[in-house]
Amino acid sequence: MIVMKFGGSSVANREQIEKVMEIVRGRLDRRPVVISSAHKGMTDALINSAKAAVRRDFALPDVIDLQSEIASSLGCPGEVLADLFQEISDLLRGIGLVRELSPRSLDYIASFGERMAVRCIADFFTRQGLKAKAYDVWDLGFITDLNFGNARPVADYGQRMRKAFAELVPEDVVPVVTGFVGKSESGEITTVGRNGSDLTATLLGAALGAEEVEIWTDTDGVLSADPSVVKNARNIPLMRFDEAAELAYFGSRVLHPSTLLPAVEKGIPVRVLNTNHPGHPGTVIDRQGDAQAKTATSVAYKENQVVLTINTTQMLQAAGFLARAFDLLARHGVVVDVISTSEISVSLTTDKLEPLMKALPDLERLGQCQVHTHKSVLVVVGRDLAQRPGLTVNILDSVEKAGARVDMVSFGLGSINFSMVMDDKDIAKAVPALHRTLFEG
Ligand code: ASP
Ligand code: MG
Repeated sequence: MIVMKFGGSSVANREQIEKVMEIVRGRLDRRPVVISSAHKGMTDALINSAKAAVRRDFALPDVIDLQSEIASSLGCPGEVLADLFQEISDLLRGIGLVRELSPRSLDYIASFGERMAVRCIADFFTRQGLKAKAYDVWDLGFITDLNFGNARPVADYGQRMRKAFAELVPEDVVPVVTGFVGKSESGEITTVGRNGSDLTATLLGAALGAEEVEIWTDTDGVLSADPSVVKNARNIPLMRFDEAAELAYFGSRVLHPSTLLPAVEKGIPVRVLNTNHPGHPGTVIDRQGDAQAKTATSVAYKENQVVLTINTTQMLQAAGFLARAFDLLARHGVVVDVISTSEISVSLTTDKLEPLMKALPDLERLGQCQVHTHKSVLVVVGRDLAQRPGLTVNILDSVEKAGARVDMVSFGLGSINFSMVMDDKDIAKAVPALHRTLFEG
């Protein structure tokens, strides 16, 4: 059995959905379970319509129009969506009446994108001769906690899903299942977080013991850099789970950062593929990665980060200073990404200014603090980086020659990334230069 997840752009319209159908047809012998996102833009449209309802500005027909257009281009009869359309109207009216949008209502409204998409897609597939059936993932045992906007399945979801699949999914039918959403034991609709359909796919893959999870998107697998910044970004054929997780965290938009956890636990390979170029082998992410790799794997960056520096002589020869600083940061919910220390100073980055500003008065008791905004973290990701002679020299040399000033560096023995911090405005110079040095030589 394989899990095949198709993202919003892969199911954006009839033309794309036809491509998806051919791809699925080609894999019928592997018993595919299809997971779908909402059509491109639909989740945003739903959330916006709920926000508009709070303002009593009923943009309601928008989402229904958008979905109706796709449904009719697929030739779906009206009854496929009638109930959901009614539910959306009722919900938006309700939100308008109470003029309040709780995390619970937000998940409820956001859930319709995937629920409508799978119904249309399964109906279309079936009429085109590919027997398919739409499922809301909760009907297949995907029960979550009540953490709206970031829900996770309950401990025994795997068992529930295996049982439900055996009972509800006929052998000769392709199940088309909603990504992103879930339901609590008490029946509340939840979501696993924006862009979370990838996570649904790996969670299902882990639950069902899939041989592989395929993530179908709109690039030729994972690339060595963001193609919008680097024209010559190239495909990475093989990478290890930890490299891919690092990349996802540092801004590669291809995978959602928590996506790989369930796959890592079960050792299920994740393959990233291009719906618009299905013959391309894409990227395989697994436990081994590319043991033969000669250089780094890729370059990624995260903009709009915040840097904190603490300078203090209290650190001289003192035990426990960093522990105190990090304890304070943790208490204020500051998530720390990159750190670099010397005998009397520590610099660190975080992605949100607000919690840091709350922590600042406490931190100032430890030493003199400075906060810098508009910073980027630029990382070179790859295995065994410390064992590659000359690599760090080349990295710094190319970035500085490109005219970027490096504020901070972090690198350790055994680390799979070399991290640099610089001004946001220097990224456009540094990234292409670095890519040329590492991959275009
Ligand atoms: N439709 C959801 C979103 O836009 C989930 C996903 O696409 O993965 O966030
Ligand atoms: Mg996505």
